[in-house]
Amino acid sequence: MSQNVQNLMEEIVLQNVDSVMASQGCCTCDVCRTDVIAYALNHLPPHYVSTLHAG
Ligand SMILES: [Zn+2]
Repeated sequence: MSQNVQNLMEEIVLQNVDSVMASQGCCTCDVCRTDVIAYALNHLPPHYVSTLHAG
């Protein structure tokens, strides 16, 4: 299994989860945060990209 692919959607979710949860007044502890990340990634289409170009 190649390690040279990355789910871009994962980056987008991780970059936005804190501000989105804060704006919704959610509990932002690690437990709830990872729940939201997992829920979002299960409901969003994956967007895999090759990471070889960056290097
Ligand atoms: Zn919590």
